[in-house]
Parts: sequence; C-alpha cells; structure tokens
Amino acid sequence: MAPITSKLFDFIVIGGGSGGLACARRAASYGAKVALVEGSGRLGGTCVNVGCVPKKVMFNGASVIEAIEDAKHYGITVGSPSFDWGFLKNARDAYVKRLNGIYEANVAKDKVEYVEGTASFISSTEVKVKDSVLTAKHILIATGGRPVIPAVEGAELGIDSDGFFDLATQPKKVAMVGSGYIGIEIAGIFKAMGSDVTVFTRTPHILRHHDSIIGDTMLEEMKRIGIKFEHDSQVLGVKKNEGAELPLELSWNTKSGNASSDSYDCVLWAVGRKPNTENLNLAAVPGIELNRTGHIVADEYQNTGAQGVYSLGDVFGKSELTPVAIAAGRRLADRLFGGPQFATSKLDYVNIPTVIFGHPTAGTIGLSGEEAKAKYGAENVKEYRTRFTNMYYGMTPYKPPTAIKLVVTGADEKVVGLHIIGRGCDEILQGFGVAIKMGATKKDFDNCVAIHPTSAEEIVTLR
Ligand SMILES: Cc1cc2nc3c(=O)[nH]c(=O)nc-3n(C[C@H](O)[C@H](O)[C@H](O)COP(=O)(O)OP(=O)(O)OC[C@H]3O[C@@H](n4cnc5c(N)ncnc54)[C@H](O)[C@@H]3O)c2cc1C
Repeated sequence: MAPITSKLFDFIVIGGGSGGLACARRAASYGAKVALVEGSGRLGGTCVNVGCVPKKVMFNGASVIEAIEDAKHYGITVGSPSFDWGFLKNARDAYVKRLNGIYEANVAKDKVEYVEGTASFISSTEVKVKDSVLTAKHILIATGGRPVIPAVEGAELGIDSDGFFDLATQPKKVAMVGSGYIGIEIAGIFKAMGSDVTVFTRTPHILRHHDSIIGDTMLEEMKRIGIKFEHDSQVLGVKKNEGAELPLELSWNTKSGNASSDSYDCVLWAVGRKPNTENLNLAAVPGIELNRTGHIVADEYQNTGAQGVYSLGDVFGKSELTPVAIAAGRRLADRLFGGPQFATSKLDYVNIPTVIFGHPTAGTIGLSGEEAKAKYGAENVKEYRTRFTNMYYGMTPYKPPTAIKLVVTGADEKVVGLHIIGRGCDEILQGFGVAIKMGATKKDFDNCVAIHPTSAEEIVTLR
C-alpha cells in the first residue's frame, strides 16, 4: 500500500466542474495555494462533458437540419439531407476532449494543484483523496448533481441525459419521460434529427416551472412538428422485447387510468436531478446540513453550517445553471482571498436569465405572471403580451409563433419578469437581462428605439 502523504493548502475545492473550476482559479489569482479535486478523470463537470456544451452541439446540428428544410421556401435547392449521427457524435466528443485539455492547461497555468480522485471528508479541515490527506482552513463543496432514475421496474433498460451523449447510433423511436427543460430540449433535438418522439408527462403541461406562455407555446409548436405527448400519464416500467426491432416495451397508465404500452428503441428518463453528496462522508463535518431535496444548505455567502466549509452550484441547488455556479464561485473566492474590498462579495440570485434550447428556443428572466401576482397581489401586476410570426417564416408555409410576456408591477411599472419564445429568443434575452437587473421600468423599455426588422423590437413596442 502506498504511504499516506499529507499536504497543506489555503483552499481545497472539491469538484472540477463549472463552479469549482471558477472558484479555484479565482482564488489562485489572489495567490492562495489551491487544490482542485476531481473524481471523474476529466475537468469541466456536467456542463462541458454531459450538459450545456454537447447539448448545444446537438441543438446546432438539429437547427442546421431545420434550416435545410426552410431553404426550399427561399428558392434554394439543397437536395434531401442525410444525417450521420456517428459523425456528429465523434466530432462532438473530440471537441469536448479538447475543452477538457484546455481546462487542464488553464488550471496548471494558474498554479492550481489538480488532484485526481474522489474526495471524502476526514474532518472539517481535512479531506482524503486516494492515499493523500489534504488539509486547508477553507474547503468548497462543488460536487454538482446527477440524473434521477425513477424506481420503476426495468428502469435500468432506459438511459438518462448522460446516456444520451453516449448513443452511438440514432434511435428510431424515443420515449422521453419528463417534460422539464432537459427532456424538452433533447426531445426537440431527436425530432429535428428524424426520430419519432413521444413525451410522457405527469401533468397537462410541460416546462411547468416556467411562465405559462413558455410552456403553452412550446407545447403547441412541438405538437405541430409531430412530437407526441402522453399527458397526465404515469410510467409503470420497461421490459425487453427480445429480438424485436424496437427492443423496449414501455408501459404506463393513461390519463383515463387505463394501462397502455408501446415499443421503443430508446427510453430516456428526464425526471430530475439530485445532488452528489453520498461519497463525501459529510458525517465527519459537524454542523453541515442537507435540506429536504438533499442539497447542502448554505447561507447567502455560500457558508454551510460548518465553519470554513462552503457549498455552491448544483449541490447547493439554487438556480442549477452553469453561469450561476461560476458567478457564485468567483464571488466566494473574491470574499475569501480578494482582500477587504470584497468582504461582502456574494451572488444575488434574483433575476437570473436562462434559455431553453427547445424547438423553438425560449428565454426567461424574473417572475412568471403567476409568481408576480402571488408576490405583489394581482391588482398590482400587469402583463403585456404579444404573439406574431417572425418574418423569417413569411416565406414558409408553416408559421411557428413568437410569443412575449412582460410582467410589471407598481405605479412605475417596474419590470419583474420577461418571458419570450420563438426563433432567436436564445440570443435576445441577455441584453434585456442587463436592463431588468438595473431595475428598468416599462417606460425605459418604451424609450429604447426599436431595431427593425427584428423580433426583439416587439419587446420595446409592447402596448
Ligand atoms: C443535459 C444538461 C444540459 C444542461 N444545459 C445547460 C445550459 O444550457 N445552460 C446552463 O447554464 N446549464 C445547463 N445545465 C446545467 C449545468 O450543467 C450545471 O448547472 C453546472 O454544470 C453545475 O456546475 P457545478 O460546478 O455545480 O457542478 P458540475 O459541473 O456537475 O461539477 C461537479 C464535479 O464534481 C465532481 N465530483 C463529484 N463528487 C466528487 C468527489 N467526492 N470528489 C471529487 N470530485 C467530485 C464531478 O465529477 C463533477 O465533475 C445542463 C445540465 C444538463 C444535465
């Protein structure tokens, strides 16, 4: 057995994903001696390896296929496209691998010590990784999360979003179980690439954590492009159809309570995510607490109940998004190592913009209409809405909608929410995010001269 070695650091960061990397590098930039522990053998975490990045590559591929379909309506003949799933997978994997390498190089350049292995606590200042004990006054837990697999018979025959990125060939017929943003995004990609897709949802709605204008419009458009929905359904289990072309038999209870089943060659569970805490030996850290959903409780400064131990990103569980983990990580490093001017540095979790890379794309920031009414009282909330066809579809026989809802409150009509869905919405929202974060009112929006002809102009001309 190799001898146990002991090393002393100023800061140990557990998890080399979005939050951990950002925090470790920022801390090192102030001269702190930092160890970054990563258990998977590759840096970048969920976002780079099995999340935002490979997802966006697939979304881009799907968008190219859609553009080819649109081309003929602009008088452009491109022939019937054929799509090579394996080619795109290999190109995407190579791209991700390059990014892993870039992260490793950046960490080395910044003089962060990269420690490969799974970290578990010995005490609130000591962490064990393989045969080493690392010691520091400050330790960050940024271990992220993973997909939930439902407790139904044959669940292991299905895949999750991680498995989606492992698929070497394109499935013909997909059962997507779950209608949160991950399920909806992947369902849209599969469909655009030519798979037959059915989405199973336990409710009449999809994207139910978003404003209803997003879910309702997305549902309408996904149905138009041929995605099927089993609403109010309860999935019961999966069985193997030995030797069949579609080897998986999914069974479910329908809305009317009848049992039903169908065959697929891919069942994908997109029913939620849970935090990675089990392998950390948190029992060795007195004061640390998990909440009802298993996330590590921390205050607004990311302090857990244990002195010198912090949590952020998906394992903390507030706004599970890459830029949130990065921003929280950088602010924590500023506060701990950046000197007195950063003594109160923390992330403000209000008005965080985010995008759903569905078909069409959607963007959302702030409160939904329903949330604003609950917060300010229905009589103090006004919603401005519009719905139109993007000029791009003026030439096509199909007319996907663009829908916009602006939620304002008070006599000065302060903007507290903006929800947009339609072509280009993914790129539109960021700038409006700045305005809303600055406290813009409806009048400020009105005072901005429109850019014509765009979809975005409709946001500053709402009546
Ligand atoms: C399919 C999908 C699509 C997504 N798309 C988007 C998107 O478009 N935009 C967006 O903003 N967000 C998106 N997200 C969410 C985003 O990926 C996460 O919010 C983000 O990666 C969280 O960062 P993190 O640092 O908290 O955790 P992670 O990035 O998950 O990193 C945690 C790291 O900790 C490591 N680890 C765990 N336990 C240990 C241990 N004990 N010791 C050592 N290492 C450990 C893990 O291996 C992992 O590398 C998506 C997620 C998924 C699944």
